[in-house]
Amino acid sequence: MNASSHKPFRLGADWRHSQDGDAVITSINPADGSVACIVTRALPRDVDAAVAIAWDAFQRQPWRKLRPDQRAATLYEIGRRLAAEREPLARLQMIDSGKPWKECLNMVDSAAGHFRYYAAVCETWQNEMTSPRGEYFSMALAEPFGVIAAITPWNSPIMNEAQKAAPALAAGNAVLLKPSEETPQLALELARICAEAGLPEGLLTVLPGHGEDVGAALVRHPGVRMVSFTGGTETGRAIGGIAGQRLIPVGLELGGKSPHIVFDDADLDRAVAGVVSGIFGSAGQSCVAGSRLFVQKSIYGRFMEALVARTRQVRVGLPDDPATQMGPLVSRAHRDKVAGYVDIGRAEGGRVLVGGAAPDRAELANGWFYLPTVIDGLGNGARVCQEEIFGPVLVALPFDDEDDVIQQANDTPFGLAAGMWTGDYARAWRVAREIEAGSVWINTYKQSHIATPFGGFKASGIGREKGLHGLRLYSQVKSLYWGMHNQPMGL
Ligand code: NAD
Repeated sequence: MNASSHKPFRLGADWRHSQDGDAVITSINPADGSVACIVTRALPRDVDAAVAIAWDAFQRQPWRKLRPDQRAATLYEIGRRLAAEREPLARLQMIDSGKPWKECLNMVDSAAGHFRYYAAVCETWQNEMTSPRGEYFSMALAEPFGVIAAITPWNSPIMNEAQKAAPALAAGNAVLLKPSEETPQLALELARICAEAGLPEGLLTVLPGHGEDVGAALVRHPGVRMVSFTGGTETGRAIGGIAGQRLIPVGLELGGKSPHIVFDDADLDRAVAGVVSGIFGSAGQSCVAGSRLFVQKSIYGRFMEALVARTRQVRVGLPDDPATQMGPLVSRAHRDKVAGYVDIGRAEGGRVLVGGAAPDRAELANGWFYLPTVIDGLGNGARVCQEEIFGPVLVALPFDDEDDVIQQANDTPFGLAAGMWTGDYARAWRVAREIEAGSVWINTYKQSHIATPFGGFKASGIGREKGLHGLRLYSQVKSLYWGMHNQPMGL
């Protein structure tokens, strides 16, 4: 795999090479501004062809009718091949997204894990049988939709793609996958690996196009029967609106502004470490980043002092340096957006306690780096406390008691995740039940398990990925009734 090669994409048996200079996507390495790769850009006219190829594969290939263990064998093989190419894939990931090396390895491990997990689910899935209430029995079967579209963001390439493709394929669907234009190459590698592992042609087509044309065309296409989207809340709202008009189901994994709560009975050292890793991991470019910190008033000063000291120690650096804990942001435009939010926070009257600028080290000068930043002195209604920044910016707020923190934590349009640190498990139970969020971490943060459902409340999304819910998302239920009459049916 050559990092700077010009990559075509595949439509059925054909390879699409760009016909003119414009029809490409150029991915930039966020660490130094160099070209990471150039990919042939899919155009809206390719969507018709891709949908036709996917339906043809769905109907003609035996995939959906294979025994579950046979389908699972291919999914296991995809997982095995992803794991075998762990390091080269992680290297591509690193130059495409700017994530530190260890995180890139984790992304590939997670992608391989999704294929293994859904192979196991496929093989062990049981349809439901209901006990007879008359002279019949009934059963509920999970059936594929046919052709589904999966649209992914840039912040966790290959993991996000696998999180959708593995369960959708396990359920028997054909998948049209549109990765983010910022990070187009890992999805193409996934398609190659799937083909090499024996996935029949046409069941996974990757369209590396722009969101507003190819993404929108996929969502509108009458041949697409379900859309699975991960990305920003406004994009999700637009996609959900079109799907609503079309009456097709959607899975929406959207943004967040997750509260991270520290009670005065917490182990403060662990809480500081958890808060730092919860916001500055992935340079804050994580949907579940704990970006709103709530600290109980009685420990606020002491905790913030320790937090600022620990934040200063976060090692910002080049992604391939093993000592690096935080790499660059994905693009110059995104770095400027994050810096703009810090300026908004200042203008709103916030105090920047640490960070608040790009680092001034020569070796980072060509990349899109930003220092880990903590702001306080604002109320929860401030823009930087309400809007998703998606960068290494933490806003800190004091709270009085349980009631106060529950009210403030829920005072946001989002509901993706939350975390809390406390020594009192009864309190943890009470607060966790009151917080409006799809995942709540107690004395830990940002743990993630393929088998545990994931998704958002409120404006953070609709539906659940991962676990058994992940397979259900890509299936529609059909009920069968089997007559067992001893006599002809009466009126
Ligand atoms: P984005 O919404 O800008 O783009 C996501 C994808 O949608 C891209 O592939 C893009 O090309 C496509 N797209 C854009 N406009 C479209 C349209 N009109 N129709 C169809 N597709 C369109 O998001 P992003 O900037 O790539 O990613 C960051 C966002 O993703 C953040 O808000 C983050 O919280 C969210 N996210 C959520 C989760 C989750 O699981 N909840 C996970 C990761 C990221």
